[in-house]
Amino acid sequence: MPSFLVTGGSGLVGSAIREVVRREAAEGEEWVFLSSKDGDLKVRADCDAIFEKYKPTHVIHLAAKVGGLFANMQQKVEFYRENIMMNDNVMECCRVHKVEKLVSYLSTCIFPDKTTYPIDETMLHSGPPHPSNEGYAYAKRMVDTMNRAYAEEYGCNFTSIIPTNIYGPRDNFSIQNGHVIPGLIHKCFIAKRDNAPFTIWGSGTPLRQFMYSEDLAELTLWVVREYHSPDPIIISVDEEAEVSIKDVAMAVVKAMDFQGEVIFDTSKADGQFKKTASNAKLRTFKPDHKFVGMEEGIKKAVDWFVANYESARK
Ligand code: NDP
Repeated sequence: MPSFLVTGGSGLVGSAIREVVRREAAEGEEWVFLSSKDGDLKVRADCDAIFEKYKPTHVIHLAAKVGGLFANMQQKVEFYRENIMMNDNVMECCRVHKVEKLVSYLSTCIFPDKTTYPIDETMLHSGPPHPSNEGYAYAKRMVDTMNRAYAEEYGCNFTSIIPTNIYGPRDNFSIQNGHVIPGLIHKCFIAKRDNAPFTIWGSGTPLRQFMYSEDLAELTLWVVREYHSPDPIIISVDEEAEVSIKDVAMAVVKAMDFQGEVIFDTSKADGQFKKTASNAKLRTFKPDHKFVGMEEGIKKAVDWFVANYESARK
């Protein structure tokens, strides 16, 4: 009987997988969702005890030390070491405990800094990452290297998913340390509560690909069951679905029913104009997958945040 173990099961992506599994788990499948309370994956003994206890046949490895730009710049050593330790323990436990399939998560932000667009799976190691997050980026890149090494040397069926920007319920809504969409939702919430303007940093013109967490969750179930190659696969909305930060901010304003003033503070840096990723490989397998539209997804994320303001990570 297949038995699925999800590390980092309490986070943004883990809770979306839990929701999708609740709706559509196949009969006979067992699912276990871990948080750091079940053990510290940086510690080999904790990791071994977890594998001994649950004896998984399939592992989805989400647990990671993640953070915003500032944290990444200040703690390169911790971002490198903690991710390397977790990934090494999980991979080695999967080998030792004869796990049939391991799916780990990379990120499009670990691709070379100087590159051409759209980026695709073949370009992951073609140049150094941006210096601001090199600790995190190199730790994540090594997962891809080791997936191939484990396949060659031990015949393991390990692979990785490269998602673009994800958002949804149970995100980290920290304004300082979170990602764009949860940060905007939190700021707009405060602006509405305090009857103050909603200020967005930058001009709002940069374009990004955003994916609702349950889309990634559904496609993760497909990867774990049916995608069998050590080579990574980008999971993202189409290139045409790229939206501007302004579009996103306006969707947040609408979903929050915010009636006040909206200001784009152009004294703040915009960041890169585009970072387009190609989902052509995904589309060869899943040509018909319909992604949740941005307005619908943002409405769900906003409603969740408003309903769970007290307990939300922020
Ligand atoms: P979250 O920050 O929401 O969740 C992180 C999870 O990891 C939590 O369940 C946390 O447990 C667990 N965790 C952290 N440290 C440890 C540890 N030492 N031992 C055991 N568990 C630990 O992450 P996301 O859901 O956003 O991200 C999931 C994956 O996707 C990550 O690998 C990330 O790098 C990748 N990713 C995310 C993107 C995004 O936009 N969010 C974009 C691209 C990639 P607890 O709740 O107990 O702290």
